[in-house]
Amino acid sequence: MSVVNYNFRNEVLKHNASLSYCYQCSTCSGGCPVALLTNGKYNPRKIIEEAILGLKDKLVESQDPNPWLCSTCQKCVELCPQKVELTEIFTLIKNLCFEEQKYPEAFYSQGKAVFDSGVAIPYSNSIVARRKKLGLPEIKIASVEEIKILMRETNFEKNILRGNE
Ligand code: SF4
Ligand code: SF4
Repeated sequence: MSVVNYNFRNEVLKHNASLSYCYQCSTCSGGCPVALLTNGKYNPRKIIEEAILGLKDKLVESQDPNPWLCSTCQKCVELCPQKVELTEIFTLIKNLCFEEQKYPEAFYSQGKAVFDSGVAIPYSNSIVARRKKLGLPEIKIASVEEIKILMRETNFEKNILRGNE
């Protein structure tokens, strides 16, 4: 049985008060491409409902529905008649999942790649050579040291490494 967690509900509301405007019409789920592809297994309306009810155990612990499946395409935000900022709310929920090491394996690999090299998908020599051949400009790389500092200061490094010890 799910447990209502008022602190969790208040945290989401404090982060984005538009949560309280939702009247559960399902327009978001009806227009969501991921909901369509997963035959409704992924359901943005349900995520919002569970956030309103403060069901942290469902959203963070069991991830039912899984907030990481959202592609952040913003279609639901455009369609919502109540102007609920769904993707903003999902970002907070994903951050809370991240703090509890509940995130997909691919997220770990990409986060680690950004920490190590400054980019999510490191460039190979063949990519660089092909770009040169095609006359494309040289890729500018951000300072990896600066990225590392930012990731340390925001606890990203600690959380991502802790989850894979
Ligand atoms: S479209 Fe908006 S109001 Fe309707 S269920 Fe989704 S979030 Fe709630
Ligand atoms: S932003 Fe996420 S929830 Fe909204 S329509 Fe796109 S995939 Fe679906």
